[in-house]
Amino acid sequence: MTDSKKPEAAPIRYSLVIPIYNETAVLPILLQRIGALLDGLDGPAEVIFVDDGSRDAGAVYLAEMAKQDSRLKLIRFSRNFGHQIAITAGMDAAAGEAVIVMDADLQDPPEVVFELVSKWKEGYDIVYARRVRREGETVFKKATAAFYYRLLSRMTDVSIPRDVGDFRLVSRKALDAFRMMPERDRFVRGMFGWLGFSQTEVTYTRPPRAAGETKYPFWKMLRLAVHGIVSFSEKPLRFALWTGLAVSGISALTGLYAVLGWMFSDEVVTGWTSTVVIVSFLSGMNLLMTGVVGLYVGGIHAEVKRRPLYIVDEYIGFEDARIAGNV
Ligand code: UDP
Ligand code: MG
Repeated sequence: MTDSKKPEAAPIRYSLVIPIYNETAVLPILLQRIGALLDGLDGPAEVIFVDDGSRDAGAVYLAEMAKQDSRLKLIRFSRNFGHQIAITAGMDAAAGEAVIVMDADLQDPPEVVFELVSKWKEGYDIVYARRVRREGETVFKKATAAFYYRLLSRMTDVSIPRDVGDFRLVSRKALDAFRMMPERDRFVRGMFGWLGFSQTEVTYTRPPRAAGETKYPFWKMLRLAVHGIVSFSEKPLRFALWTGLAVSGISALTGLYAVLGWMFSDEVVTGWTSTVVIVSFLSGMNLLMTGVVGLYVGGIHAEVKRRPLYIVDEYIGFEDARIAGNV
C-alpha cells in the first residue's frame, strides 16, 4: 500500500487571508502581486479569499483561479457579513504557522509581508503594520482616522496601537488564542491588542487603492468606530452616570432657587423661557444617555442570541478534512 500512497504535502507555513467585497476591478492586479509574494516566501503558502457576499462576478473568477492553482482557496459567505467577520472566517480556516491578514485593494502592499515575516522569525507573535503616511485618501478620512485612534487609546485600557488597521501577521499561538474569543461584536485590531503576547510593528506608507472604490462608506466606518469603543471601553457608561449626576445637581440648585424666589420675592416669575430651555436640555440629555446605554444593551442582545458568526455558502479549494474541522 505504501507505494500507492500520495506523497505527503509539506505543511503550510504561511496563510494569507484576504476579504473581498465587490473587488472585481482589483482582482487581476491583486493575483499578480500575490503571485510574486508567494514565490518569494520561504515555505509553502496558501491564500484564503473570503468573498463577503459580493454582488459582482469576483467569486466566479476566483473560483476559476483556485481550480488552476491549488494554493488559492475561497470561502464564499451566504451574504455580506462585514469586513471584520470575513477576516475572522479566513483565520478560522487558515492552516499556516503564520497568518497574514491584508486588504484586497493593495493598500496593504504585499512586499511589506516580507518584513512582517522577518519580525515573526525574530520570535514575535503579533506583527502589525503601522501606516506612517497615507496617500490618495481624503483629508477628511485622514483627519477622522487620526482623531479616532487617539480617542480610542484614551478611552480604553487595552493597548490598541494607533494608525494600525487589520494588516498584520499573527503566529499560530496567537491565532489559536484569538479563536477562543467568541464575541459577535468584532473589532479585530482591538482583540489582538487585548490578547497580549509579544507584539511589534513595522511601518509603511499606505498607497491609494489600486482600483475600484472604497467599500467603507462613511456610515460603515462610523459603525466600526462605535463598535470599537463600545466593545473595548465602559467609559461612555461612566460618562453617562457622571453627566446625569452633574445635571441632577444643577437641577436641584435651580429648583431651590425657584422655591426661594417663590417664598421670598414679590415678583411674579414668568419663567417660560427658562422652563423650555431646561425641559428640552434635560430631555435631550435623557435621550442621549439612553442611547449610550442602548449601545451596550444591543451588544448584550447580539451576544445572547448565540448565532453563528457567519454562514458559509461554499468552501472552494480546501481539503475536506480542514473544512470539516471548521464548520
Ligand atoms: N470589505 C469586506 N466587506 C465589507 C466591506 C469591505 O470584506 O463589507 C473588504 C474590502 O473588499 C477590502 C477590505 O475589506 O478588502 C477593506 O475595505 P476598503 O479598502 O474598501 O476600506 P478602506 O481602505 O477604504 O478603509
Ligand atoms: Mg482600502
